[in-house]
Formats: sequence, C-alpha cells, structure tokens
Amino acid sequence: EPMGKVNLVQVIDTAVELTEARLRTEDIRMDWAPPNNPVYAWGGEVRLVQVFVNLINNAADAMSGQDDRLIRIAIDRGDKLAVTVRDIGPGIENSEKLFEPFYTTKAVGTSEGMGLGLSISYGLVQSFGGNIRGANLDTGALFTVELEPFTEHE
Ligand code: ADP
Ligand code: MG
Repeated sequence: EPMGKVNLVQVIDTAVELTEARLRTEDIRMDWAPPNNPVYAWGGEVRLVQVFVNLINNAADAMSGQDDRLIRIAIDRGDKLAVTVRDIGPGIENSEKLFEPFYTTKAVGTSEGMGLGLSISYGLVQSFGGNIRGANLDTGALFTVELEPFTEHE
C-alpha cells in the first residue's frame, strides 16, 4: 500500500465501524465525535485503520468484566496531529514492555493474546514518521498516536 494523503477522520470512522459489532455485544460506549472538517495525515490508510482497530480492541479487552465501559477517541491538531484513544479500564500494568513483541497479559491461544498488536502498530506508525505512546490516567489508559499532518507540495 502506498503512503500518501490520508483522511484521518475517515480512518477512525472505519476503525469504529469495524469494531461496532463487538462494542455493541459487550455494551461498550464509544465517544467519538468526528470533526466537521477533514484532517489529513501522512501515512497508509489500511495500516492506520489497523492501528486504531488494535487500540480499540485493546481498550475493550481491558474493560472486560466491568460494569461501566467507555472508549473515547479524539483528534488534536497542533504541530503534529494527535489521536487519543482512552478507556476507563484498570490501566497499563507494565509500560516498559508495552511495545515489545509477544508481551501480553492476556490468556494465550487467541489472536488477541499474542502480544503483537502494539509492537506492529508501533512499527507502522514509526514508518509514517509518527509516534505512539501509552500512559495511565487516574482511571484507565490513554494511547496517543502522533502523525505528521499532510501538507500539499511536499
Ligand atoms: P495483546 O492485545 O495481544 O495482548 P498488544 O500488543 O495489543 O497485545 O498489547 C500488549 C499488552 O499491553 C496487553 O496484553 C496489555 O497488558 C497491555 N495493554 C494494551 N492496551 C491496554 C489498555 N488499553 N489498558 C491496559 N493495558 C493495555
Ligand atoms: Mg492487542
């Protein structure tokens, strides 16, 4: 897939659509209010969808068994573009190992428990000149995906 101009709002819409069935089944609320104007980033569309599907699934996994489950996604526009994905789960256990391949705290044997999602996402985002990091909130985890804005004539 070539890299180029990607409509970030559309990418997140697609990731939300792809996870909708799961979120409905597990009664997880999704707070994603797309901005009215398109936001263009530099990257690969399919790979960026993959990154956000990973982050949404991780957030959903983290909240399994909780009464109240909420995922919030937002885009912040600055020098770089920052997409934040936050949940109200127990938070990150070991932030040192978060992006290591095969690091997982989930039951082994399922594709979601392979520990590859974040390491693959990390590589993808790096290849777009961006960055991804995780942090804990008072309640829950916050993942920030930083991307280069797409500017014409580059
Ligand atoms: P997997 O989902 O297969 O475990 P990932 O690479 O996607 O692999 O995630 C690695 C680990 O990072 C998870 O097993 C979990 O311990 C931690 N993690 C990822 N996202 C979250 C989150 N939203 N809240 C808490 N822990 C998380
Ligand atoms: Mg995962």
